[in-house]
Amino acid sequence: SIYGDYLKSVIRTVRDWPEPGINFRDITPVLQNSAAFRKLIDSFVHRYQEMEIDAVAAIDARGFIIGAPVAYELNCSFVPIRKKGKLPFQTISETYRLEYGEATVELHADAFREGDRIVVMDDLIATGGSMLAATNLIERSGGRVIETAAIIDLPEIGGSDRIRREGHSVFAVCE
Ligand code: 5GP
Repeated sequence: SIYGDYLKSVIRTVRDWPEPGINFRDITPVLQNSAAFRKLIDSFVHRYQEMEIDAVAAIDARGFIIGAPVAYELNCSFVPIRKKGKLPFQTISETYRLEYGEATVELHADAFREGDRIVVMDDLIATGGSMLAATNLIERSGGRVIETAAIIDLPEIGGSDRIRREGHSVFAVCE
């Protein structure tokens, strides 16, 4: 994407966090820098503004930071996909495997109308497990996943290929 190299230079890598051997990609320097934050949000808005998107669905919690301003600019709805136990109304849920253990994400049962055109957003794609749990929830509730979108893809881990094998398009601002 046009600002990909610039935004990649602003993202910080924190060695050995949260555990030894993990290099955490930290997006907070992008959020702190108003010019970078604007370029980040604009990267998604430019991509989706002609695609007749009905809703941005974003994944708890860093997906919310980017999903809400993108939805606002697209003049479409915003739908949170949350960690288990946070949504008050009737929910549907998906449980997926993590490296150690499992995680559950939930969506309000009335979040989408049949055929709604949805972009799913998160900050980063690693194994793709979080994104695929989200796309499953959206499809179960009648929404159409137009694209999955992230700030960062880690292609060597294979999550974006896995998401594509499940039939979804993947957009990432940088790798
Ligand atoms: P996946 O489900 O694709 O394996 O992992 C992606 C999820 O884990 C995303 O929700 C993302 O927020 C989080 N995540 C994993 N590693 C990182 C990282 O290095 N940086 C950031 N910002 N998030 C990460």
